[in-house]
Amino acid sequence: MEIKSLNLPWHEIDTVLLDMDGTLLDLHFDWHFWMTYLPGIYAKENNLTLAEANEFLHTKIHSQTGTLNWYCLDYWTEQLALPVAALKQDLKHLIKPHPGVMEFLQWLKAEKKHVIMVTNAHRDSLSIKLEMTEIGDYFDEIISAHDYQKPKENIQIWKDIQTDIPYNPAKTLLLDDNLTALTTAQEFGIKHCIAATFVSDKMDKIDPKQFPYIENLTELLPAK
Ligand SMILES: [Mg+2]
Repeated sequence: MEIKSLNLPWHEIDTVLLDMDGTLLDLHFDWHFWMTYLPGIYAKENNLTLAEANEFLHTKIHSQTGTLNWYCLDYWTEQLALPVAALKQDLKHLIKPHPGVMEFLQWLKAEKKHVIMVTNAHRDSLSIKLEMTEIGDYFDEIISAHDYQKPKENIQIWKDIQTDIPYNPAKTLLLDDNLTALTTAQEFGIKHCIAATFVSDKMDKIDPKQFPYIENLTELLPAK
């Protein structure tokens, strides 16, 4: 099988920013948790039918799209009166990296690139994913947007990160399945903004719009 390559100018790239959920890890875990598992628990706890719980939760979750609350386990724990972080443990067997992820991370390490995770995930959500996978070993820095009280949808975060961890946007690559995050990063000046379109074998691929994109992270490696 021929592997396609984006043929990135790797000699011009010294820093790699990577999203986590959907980009490195199967999004089915998160999707199934929020869309199926949590409504079931909420229905039982509140004597609602599953349909009622679904409607309530989906509307409530949707209302917070693109905000930091959407990703904040403390917010949902309080709003729903459920131990959200603890409940995530029940499904942790579903957490897994996409094919090609470990190979790509190993290559970045061998090439001595500065590798930074930038995730909107809450620290509690992050820790269960680092516990269940080996990906954490390959990062020089791991940033949760919650540390900056703003999501990647806010352009200011790229500047705030740079203040703490100096990087040159002109020599930086960002890989993300969140098109709004890619857009703010591009506006900030991050030169190589690439969409990760394969988020799960159980979900539709992301439409990358105007962004260059990959389905498997090995497509980022230099052509052999
Ligand atoms: Mg993501």
